[in-house]
Amino acid sequence: MNLILLGAPGAGKGTQAEVICDKLHIPAVSTGNILRAAVKNGTEMGLKAKEFIEKGALVPDSVIIGIIKERLAEPDCANGFILDGVPRTVAQAEALEQMGITIDKVVDLEVADETIMHRLTGRRVCAACGASYHVENKPSRVEGKCDRCGGDLVARKDDQPETVKDRLKTYHELTEPLIEFYKERGKLVVVEGHESIADTSELLLKALEA
Ligand code: AMP
Repeated sequence: MNLILLGAPGAGKGTQAEVICDKLHIPAVSTGNILRAAVKNGTEMGLKAKEFIEKGALVPDSVIIGIIKERLAEPDCANGFILDGVPRTVAQAEALEQMGITIDKVVDLEVADETIMHRLTGRRVCAACGASYHVENKPSRVEGKCDRCGGDLVARKDDQPETVKDRLKTYHELTEPLIEFYKERGKLVVVEGHESIADTSELLLKALEA
């Protein structure tokens, strides 16, 4: 199954992608994680992307399309994948179509902007593997350490309140039009993302079965 998780930053795409990943045994592909790894490793792409990420702007479509083309060609994506945080513009969605990639379902995780602000300011991510936690909603077993790999948990620079506001504005202007794009293609399923992580996962897995 080839899936897309749509939704604002902080809607829970990364967390739910991990759940679906474990259930359906397909990899989650997060352009955000790929970009952050590139920034950390100081690659040419990382150097280009850093300033966009830190100010809460989108990285240019050409860079994202290159990343996704390369990643989806890897063997672990042959039996399906979950795209988390991509496409984020109509140009990226059109590029996927032009690559001949068929999408089975697009899940729109809907969460109000006020909830997003609370979630993102409490979010912590593993500096080593990218796994996502929340100080209240999803704490790690050992404070400050990743359950999966023991890496250090850190707050993302772009989760600062002012940057979150910019990211939400960008989402409404450039990413929200994708809801209509996939509705027109008969692929869209809407899932309420306000519930607890476990309840949202249940709603989401039900929506995928339907
Ligand atoms: P995320 O972890 O998905 O919230 O992404 C973090 C940041 O990486 C975003 O705020 C953008 O700067 C950049 N980014 C990730 N995915 C994309 C994408 N598909 N298109 C453009 N920029 C992206």
